[in-house]
Amino acid sequence: MVEVKLGAATVRRIEESYEPNFDAKVFFPDWDPAVVDRHAGWLMPGHYDRESGFLKLSIHSWLVTVGGRRILIDTCVGNHKPRPHRPKWHLMETRYLDRLKAAGVEPDQVDMVMCTHLHVDHVGWNTRLDNGRWVPTFKNAKYVFSRADYDHYLKLDSDPATGPVNGGSFRDSVLPVVEAGLTQMVEGAAQIDDNMRVEPAPGHTPGTIAIKFESKGEKALFCGDILHHALQVYHPEWNSFACAEAAGARRSRREALEHCAGSGARLMPCHFGAPFTCHIEHKGPGFVPRFQDSF
Ligand SMILES: [Zn+2]
Repeated sequence: MVEVKLGAATVRRIEESYEPNFDAKVFFPDWDPAVVDRHAGWLMPGHYDRESGFLKLSIHSWLVTVGGRRILIDTCVGNHKPRPHRPKWHLMETRYLDRLKAAGVEPDQVDMVMCTHLHVDHVGWNTRLDNGRWVPTFKNAKYVFSRADYDHYLKLDSDPATGPVNGGSFRDSVLPVVEAGLTQMVEGAAQIDDNMRVEPAPGHTPGTIAIKFESKGEKALFCGDILHHALQVYHPEWNSFACAEAAGARRSRREALEHCAGSGARLMPCHFGAPFTCHIEHKGPGFVPRFQDSF
């Protein structure tokens, strides 16, 4: 299990899936096949499958343990959820909760869940199936959602012309948490606790938040889908097919990279391949990921 020390905190990666899962040229409309040879030294086998031309995007949560508190950042796709639009995620059955337990945490011991945004692969384990109903998986947790994302998707979901949104996940993985009264909606920049601060980073979704972490002078940035793949460190102008607003997504990506390169904050993405986290350095006018001595 990947384990990172950040000051007084321990951060563990809780895997849901890790396999070639998205056709690179579909995922990145600006995909340039020449990058495969240019970055061959690190791209294979962790980040790209040359045979299929598919990206290897990990889907995982970060479990942060600090000061006796347990915080889960982004909750993947979830089990048993109907997702016919994406066959790999349809009625999934993974051992995600067993992996959480292997990290020493039972669902009832999670104090806080934070969703960087409300897309289908970031909210799934918010709920689980119980006698035909979707109920909060982490019933003692406060769930931090972005107000801007919630309002945006609520409106689209409520309109028969556009709903259900996000593959149905808004209804089965977001609304039940709201109805249970477990949410803490954040608007604008907000200090969540001694270590965590959220800041708006709109673009991928209207309400995407960047989670800035600090403990004993050590910093990290939990970036959600501000970046999906390590190639975007070299190509911050590349948006994914799922980025809602192109200019904002590029701006937020550059700001995240600037923050990490300028402050030494460790980048903690949701979808990068192994080793799943890196530091960022300036190089000329751009950036490079530094995976070595990552731990
Ligand atoms: Zn995602």
